[in-house]
Amino acid sequence: MPRTVLVQFDQLHREHGALRAAVPGRDRILLVESERMTTGRRWHVQRLWFMISAARHFAAALEAEGFEVDYRKAATTVEGIREHLDEFGERAVVTADASSRRLRASLEAAGVQTVPNDFFLTSRDEFQAWASSQKTLVMENFYRRQRVRLGILVADGKPTGGAWNFDADNRLPPPKGHVYPQPLSFEPDEIDRQVLAEIEGRRKAHPEDYWGENPSGVWGTTRAAALAQLDDFLSNRFQNFGPYEDAMPRDSWSVYHSLLSPYMNVGLLHASEVIEAVRVRFLRGGVSLASCEGFVRQVIGRREYINGIYWSFNENYRETNGLAANRKLLPLYWNPQATEMNCARSVVEDLRERSWVHHIPRLMVLSNLALLTAINPQEYLDWMRQTFIDASEWVMVPNVIGMGVHADNGQMMTKPYAAGGAYVNRMSNYCGGCRFDPKKRTGEDACPLTTLYWDFLDRNREGFARNHRIAQQVKGLDRLSDLPEVRVRAREVLAKLEAGDL
Ligand code: SF4
Repeated sequence: MPRTVLVQFDQLHREHGALRAAVPGRDRILLVESERMTTGRRWHVQRLWFMISAARHFAAALEAEGFEVDYRKAATTVEGIREHLDEFGERAVVTADASSRRLRASLEAAGVQTVPNDFFLTSRDEFQAWASSQKTLVMENFYRRQRVRLGILVADGKPTGGAWNFDADNRLPPPKGHVYPQPLSFEPDEIDRQVLAEIEGRRKAHPEDYWGENPSGVWGTTRAAALAQLDDFLSNRFQNFGPYEDAMPRDSWSVYHSLLSPYMNVGLLHASEVIEAVRVRFLRGGVSLASCEGFVRQVIGRREYINGIYWSFNENYRETNGLAANRKLLPLYWNPQATEMNCARSVVEDLRERSWVHHIPRLMVLSNLALLTAINPQEYLDWMRQTFIDASEWVMVPNVIGMGVHADNGQMMTKPYAAGGAYVNRMSNYCGGCRFDPKKRTGEDACPLTTLYWDFLDRNREGFARNHRIAQQVKGLDRLSDLPEVRVRAREVLAKLEAGDL
């Protein structure tokens, strides 16, 4: 029976998924640009542009290799498959298992055959076997096991350098007067321009469906661009990745980050290629073990763990709202001018410009603010999915529901990542240029994060007091002689943030 290989938009790798065994002349290729994926949400222009342009470039590369490629637009992926079968006749349609629950269910119902999803280093079964052997799903335990299983930075089962973790050497605040390396810039080609013109046309007709700036060369959309980004990271940023991985300097949006997540999450780069390149570069010397370990942890630890968590919890996990948070998304998430909080405004401005900020502004500014202001987790999750260039469903569901806003009753993280202005003040230079004072919790110039942090602990005092990981922070409430004033100021802050007036 003839065969069609369905290439999903996050499976853009010739050596992985169903494409691995595909042969030009024998197998047809199908890519479906579905309306369900591209419309009906308020997409950041660059996120949408990157997804579509990367897929069209990949389709062109397969064509150049000799495949007959059917790249079609359709209402849904399943509809596109039906139209493909109508045109080319009955045939087996094969794809790699989808990376989101919804698409997986639709493809299964449509009778599409699947091969295992090998876009990660850990299969879903492997993760499940580990998860079932654990009392709690502690990321650090998973990561250490990964190091041994994959043989990375270990010898005889022991960690290189005598420690699994070099956090004490990493996570420094931004250095003063530092000059950061400039990230690469990519020239758009004909396909990039065509995709952007289509999006701009739709944006003109429906401006409310889009936000963010047009692409400005920060992101490439090809395998060659992905490899160039990897090479640039290893040559110019890897050495200092670890020490400054948590720093939020105002004068550098990229700091020493790899900028590889968009490429990895659509399949243009595989984690095994990244890790092998990192290993080789580390062996050449000139990169500290702390930097190497910090990066390896992100790739073989955190990324794999998050994907495993997504598949471990059932489909209801996405809808959990354990803290009963029901506030609407604050205006500042769409419009940075709606706030005077320098941290939030700067981060959202960066997002408008590039559809990306690194993990600490995501967690400790955007998600922290969502947690402290009790924004509805699903509304916030939708915003994250539409905004970040690398926001796959499997990444965002655990990262937002479990880690960002602690909506899952602690199934993933045992305590909420809540912080006041002191953390932002330590790890960034936002506070210096802000009209608020990170140390103050009451008064007109009190830092909204600091006020809301104490109010958050106060509102959840009863539940958190039973959690030994946060009980100490909750006890701090007893030392606040001005708690009544904090409560009053918190009401004012929340009302003003809702009105886009603080
Ligand atoms: Fe953000 Fe508060 Fe610092 Fe202002 S003072 S930048 S609001 S943490």
